[in-house]
Order: sequence, then C-alpha cells, then structure tokens
Amino acid sequence: MNQVSTKDIVKKYGFKFTKSLGQNFLIDDSVLMDIVEGAEVNSEDFIIEIGPGVGTLTRELLKRSKKVCSIELDSELIPILNEELKEFDNFELIHKDALKVNFNELIGDEKSVKVVANLPYYVTTPIIAKLLNEGYNFKSLTIMIQKEVGERIAAKPNSKDYGSLSILVQYYCDTKIIRKVSPASFIPQPKVESIVIKLDKLDKPRVEVKDEKLFFRLCREAFNMRRKTLWNASKNLKLDSKLMEEAFNCAEIDPKRRGETLSLQEFANLSNAIYSLTHTKS
Ligand code: SAM
Repeated sequence: MNQVSTKDIVKKYGFKFTKSLGQNFLIDDSVLMDIVEGAEVNSEDFIIEIGPGVGTLTRELLKRSKKVCSIELDSELIPILNEELKEFDNFELIHKDALKVNFNELIGDEKSVKVVANLPYYVTTPIIAKLLNEGYNFKSLTIMIQKEVGERIAAKPNSKDYGSLSILVQYYCDTKIIRKVSPASFIPQPKVESIVIKLDKLDKPRVEVKDEKLFFRLCREAFNMRRKTLWNASKNLKLDSKLMEEAFNCAEIDPKRRGETLSLQEFANLSNAIYSLTHTKS
C-alpha cells in the first residue's frame, strides 16, 4: 500500500518531532487501512483531515476520495506534504490551527463531507466540541483518540466517565469503535492506548431540546459540581428558586439527585421545563 513509509519520510527530511503539537505519527499500515475502511471513504467524498503529519494517511485518503483538504499547524511539515503529495491534484493543504478554521468556508457546497484524522491528543476534546457545536454539515468523523477519551464519549449515566463530552457526542451522533491501537503503532510512542472511533452524525439530535444553549449550560453546571445535588448545581443558572422547583416538578426529576445520574432525555426534559417556565413567566 504505502509506497513510502512514515519512517522513510521522517528520515529523508530530517524531521524533528514537536511533542507539544501532539506529534505521534502512525507507522502501522493495518491501522491506517482500518481508519480508511472504517470511515467508508468513497469517490464522492470530500474529506477533511486534521493534522496530516507527513501525509501517510492523507495519501490513502487521496486515492479513494474526490478531494482531501488537510489542515496542518506545523510549518515544518508544509513543504514536506507539498513535495510528497505533489502527484495528487485533489489535495488542498491549509496551514492553520484547526481550532481557528471556519469549516463552512472549506465545505462550501460539498454534500458528502467526512472528517478523518489521527488527532493531536492535546486538542482532541476542543476539536470534537468545535466540530459538533458549530453545526457543520458533515456525515461522519472517524478519528484516532486516546482510549480514555473514547470511554468518556461512550459512557452511560452513573459511571465515572459520564460527563459533558458524553452528552455532547451522544446528542449529535451514533458512535462505533473501529479498533484499539497500541502505542507501538506510532513514532514516537505515546504513553497512552488509543482507539479509532467513528461518530456518525444523526439526521436530527437524539432528543428534542427547545434551547440548546440552555441544555448544554445545564449539563455543564451539573457535571462541574459532580458531588453536589442537582438543586445546588443548578443555583449557578441564577434562576428564581420557585421557578426551579416547578421545573424539577414538571420534568419529574428529584432535585436531590446528582447530575451524573440523569440520562440525556432527562437533561432534555429538565432544560425544556426551565425553558417553558421562563418563557411563560416573562
Ligand atoms: N496524520 C499523521 C499520522 O497519522 O501519522 C499525524 C498525526 S499526529 C497525531 C497530529 C498532527 O496534528 C501533527 O502533524 C501535528 O503537527 C498536527 N497538529 C497539532 N496541533 C494542530 C492544530 N491545532 N491544528 C492542526 N494541526 C495540528
């Protein structure tokens, strides 16, 4: 598959890894292929790749898709990528911090948009949050992340991993774990185990929410104070206590419960009750 390996390219250009940029490059072809196959890339797809490194995953994506737009922050990698991938006319390279990119400008009118990436681990959560919160029109996100973040994404109520990230991802997506990946599949080796996970964007969010801003704020407050009751945690919303009492009643949720025991549907019910009460009383 790879004509040139990651190790060869690193050696050829004397590339020096920058730890602070989360640079752990894939050297295991079986993982590379599982990412590409797991993402179900086809010739209609417009692929956005975050952090192409020296372009080994990018090359496989370029062979199978209509276009790949890769976003790389490290200026040392830009000439390497341009040289190594010069035979592809469906490649676009953006030298930028992915957290500062307006993805709508890249996506334009594209209909079949998929994000595929071996993410830099230091920004995994902010990147997932940005991609989901900013409402971009993509079908799926197939990403390599730390195993521990994967556990937080898939966590159910009453577990230590259940939190704002579980709510955010489960609200917008179905999740499927493609495979586990050991540190030996990278150079340099990371300290943690990794997984490849596919997040398939749902046609509409999993639960009906009247005010998403309020819903996510309520979840954040509930998980920021995990050890407190919902009643105490919800004080940070700075709403009238009578109104909050009524909201708990309407949603049929005991305010003495802790936030980490609430399902996605229960968070939606409580935030919808607060929304209805604040909008009828004002
Ligand atoms: N895709 C390559 C691979 O699989 O071998 C490299 C993956 S490496 C884990 C993460 C890549 O993301 C590095 O190339 C790093 O320079 C780049 N990167 C780090 N922070 C970034 C950011 N904020 N925006 C875009 N790229 C970033």
